[in-house]
Amino acid sequence: MTLPLPRAVLFDLDDTLYLERDYVASGFRAVGRWMAERYGVTAFARVCQELFAAGRRGDVFDAALAALDLAERVPVVELIRVYREHHPDIRLLPDAERLLRRLHGRVPLALVTDGTARVQRRKLLALGIAPLFDVITVTDELGRAFWKPHPRPFLATLEALGVEPHETLWIADNPKKDFLTPRRLGMACVRVRRPDGIYAHLETGPEGVDREVSDLDSLDLLPLAAGAV
Ligand SMILES: [Mg+2]
Repeated sequence: MTLPLPRAVLFDLDDTLYLERDYVASGFRAVGRWMAERYGVTAFARVCQELFAAGRRGDVFDAALAALDLAERVPVVELIRVYREHHPDIRLLPDAERLLRRLHGRVPLALVTDGTARVQRRKLLALGIAPLFDVITVTDELGRAFWKPHPRPFLATLEALGVEPHETLWIADNPKKDFLTPRRLGMACVRVRRPDGIYAHLETGPEGVDREVSDLDSLDLLPLAAGAV
């Protein structure tokens, strides 16, 4: 089954266009280097990575400091600062690059991304993809209250593109927050459920999606597939 080419395509960033776990690993390495320089501790990144691989979320640095008996010596806020301010070593996924290159210049493209604004901006810089998008909405720049699923970032993006919701396609990965509002607004929704994605284990909510794919090569946009544009 193919999808008609919409008048605009909107993308999520994390785990849609690159792997979020690569960002996490890159951040752990940066914090590890800082720990080695500042405290002479060389095992920190490895311990963080092991905790993350075991499913630890939200307090990896606290747990790693405790595991290495460093909780008294190292302020966790410093580690979070180093992590957020590091220049990420991340890559656009090959299938994402192929789709963006196919669509760029043929249909307006936009990005709607959550997360600390300066962190998301550094990711965009590292990926070098900002020039491919007509509109980039970093929800955090509207205010913390306007992260997804708040409708404002979606409505602001649609307005900037000059399109109606039902004319657009939204491609994202996280059932917790990505699809509720776009579905309500009437945007066509594609869930990319990458096997390595952090939210791949979550089932899609009752709001549903129009299509679920395991990578963006599987997304068959009709006029593109037919070579009509
Ligand atoms: Mg995402």
